[in-house]
Order: sequence, then C-alpha cells, then structure tokens
Amino acid sequence: MNNTLPLYQSVFDVEYDQWSKLLEDQPEYRIKQVWEGLYRGFTLPHELTSLPKALREILSELSPKALEVVSELKSDNMTTIKWLLGLHDSNQIETVLMRYSRRDTVCVSTQVGCAMGCGFCATGQAGFFRQLSSGEIIEQVFIASRRLRALGANQRVSNVVFMGMGEPLANFTALIRAIDLMNREFAIGARSFTVSTVGIAPGIRRLAEVPIQVNLAVSLHAANDALRSSLLPINKSYPISVLMEAINDYRIATNRRVSFEWALMDSVNDSDQDAKELAGLALEVGAHINLIPLNSTPGWPASGSSLSRVHEFANLLESLGCNVTIRSTRGAEIAAACGQLANRKHVVGKARRLPGSVTAFSDLSVPK
Ligand code: SAH
Ligand code: SF4
Repeated sequence: MNNTLPLYQSVFDVEYDQWSKLLEDQPEYRIKQVWEGLYRGFTLPHELTSLPKALREILSELSPKALEVVSELKSDNMTTIKWLLGLHDSNQIETVLMRYSRRDTVCVSTQVGCAMGCGFCATGQAGFFRQLSSGEIIEQVFIASRRLRALGANQRVSNVVFMGMGEPLANFTALIRAIDLMNREFAIGARSFTVSTVGIAPGIRRLAEVPIQVNLAVSLHAANDALRSSLLPINKSYPISVLMEAINDYRIATNRRVSFEWALMDSVNDSDQDAKELAGLALEVGAHINLIPLNSTPGWPASGSSLSRVHEFANLLESLGCNVTIRSTRGAEIAAACGQLANRKHVVGKARRLPGSVTAFSDLSVPK
C-alpha cells in the first residue's frame, strides 16, 4: 500500500492511475471496483461493501474528505432541491437540482464566490474566495445523483448547467476536466452540458478549441457598453464588440448556436429600445435569447420586471425576428434561483442594500 497520495480536494480529483499507485499491492480489479463504485454506483470507496473491511478502512483514511451536506432545502413540490455543501477547508458552496418530467438538471458551482463583481448577483456581492477543483465540481453531480437514487428516480442526472456560484471560464482547466470525466464516466452527453459565462472573450475562444462541444450561454443583460459596464464590470475589459467577435468566431469554429441570457430588471434593461438593441446583437450572431425576470438579492435595489412586461419584451423581440424563450424562476422560494446562490458563511450579516434609485444604476459603484 502506497499511502503517499498527494493532497486532493475531492476523491474525484484522483485519477485512475493514482488509484493504481495507492492500491499497488491490490489486484487490478480492486482499482476498477473503486473507480466504478464512484462513477457508476455513486458510492464512496469506504462504503463499498464488495471490498474487504480492512481495505475500506485504509481507503477511508487515505481518501480526501467528502463534501459535506450542511443543509438541504426543498421547494414545496420537491421539484427543486438546493444543497449547501461544506468543503474540506470549511468554505461552502451551493448546488441545485431541478427536476423536470423528462430530465434532471444539476446547476453546479465552479468557484467559491466570484471575482466578477456583477452587483445584481448574490455570488458577486460576496466576492471571490477560491477556485473549485475539478473533483469538487464533479462531486456536486455525484451528490445530486445519490439523492436522485434515494428518491427512487427512474433516471440519472441528465443535464449539468454551470450556472451556480462562480465564473466557469475563469476556472477553465478544472471546468474542462470535469466535463470530460462526467461525459465519459457519468455518460452525460456533451450537448447536455451548458457553460454560462459573463463574457470572458478569450475563454470563449479557448472553449471553441475543446473537442467536447457543449452549449454556451452568454450572460448579456445589456446591449450597449454604458449600461453593460455598469451592471457587469467585466464589460470594461471585454466590451460588446470584442465579445461579439469572440462569439462569432466560436460559432464558426463549432457550428453551434449560442444563447444570450437576459435578466429583465424593471426600468433598467426592459425598455423597447433595450429590446431593439438586443435584437440587433442576437441577429448579428444568430443567438437564441433566454429571458428571465431578475431574482431579488439582498444587496441590489432593482426588482425583476413584471411578468406582463417580460411577455411584451419577448413579443417585441419575436416581431424583430429573434428566437426567444422565457425561463421560469425555479426555486426562488428557497433562494435557489439564478443569481441567488451565496456563500452564506461569508455573506451572512454583511448583506447590504446599495444606495440610489433603480434608474440611477450607472452611478452606482459596483461592489468588488
Ligand atoms: N458566472 C456565470 C455563471 C453563473 S451565474 C455567468 O455569469 O453567466 C448564472 C446566471 O445567473 C447568469 O446568466 C447570471 O447573469 C444570472 N444571474 C445572476 N444574478 C441574477 C439575478 N439576481 N437574477 C437572475 N439571474 C441572475
Ligand atoms: Fe459571477 Fe456570474 Fe454572478 Fe457575475 S453573474 S458575479 S459572473 S456568478
């Protein structure tokens, strides 16, 4: 037994070869048992009853600490479940399972917090703490898969959306390893992954070069630089023209349609003029538009547009020739909806409301 396993954040960071080294005095089939236990059976090594007890004890000692379910919140109808998960270093992240009739989608976090500072997003309000390892990303899907099994679900996790805490393209290597492993070992199809980005143009170009072709969603929210920079500070580094160029190149390289995310904020980005500007960009790069009313967060004064305004906005976009979907705000009652995930440990007690009226957004300093 070689117990010099380097420090890992998650058991899913350990490569197959590394298990072989760790269990070098064991027959090859034991390594397969451990690996398949994790990826097919959703079972941790020390829980594998097919292994001898002594080996399970050793594995329990040597394996990295598993993510701990600190709390589980369920929506009334059990279609949305949100977990607060404790990491080995006592940081915390949130993960959401959304159950639909024909699919089960997990919304995963890629970072503890986020450095992008979008003021309307609870994660952005909390700030950045650290990157997640690829294993910590995969383990979120593992936890959701175990829960699904315990619920007696007749299907496995079918879709993974990188729309939890953090900016996936700012944690590129971990993101790609996680996608690759989940694609191969959890048998989740490439097209069943959606990477959502705030608009990191070089990251979009890098994603175009990755052999596994996933869906790409770009969180646009504003179609002119003045408004976009006031809502999403990254726009100052990658303004709309640069972003559109990257999206266009991505589209040419992958032949995949991109989608634009647009959280409708009352009197901020929901005017007819906003719809026209958005339509111009969407038609330019052939993007599908997903609309969602902004979900409220403790640190931002704007509210979501009314449902009637959301429909008017959608109709106007359609009349201009765009493809539009209105997304449901799943899980708002358990603060599990888009933008409501916060690193609670860090934000409890320091949630703040920004001064100023909604119409004075461009005057607000965006919290870092
Ligand atoms: N960092 C990535 C992915 C995580 S955020 C990104 O920004 O795309 C996932 C989605 O939630 C993004 O589209 C983001 O713009 C959106 N979002 C953030 N705060 C929101 C809020 N308060 N209401 C609705 N959507 C929000
Ligand atoms: Fe980060 Fe996305 Fe939230 Fe912006 S919207 S702060 S990029 S998680």
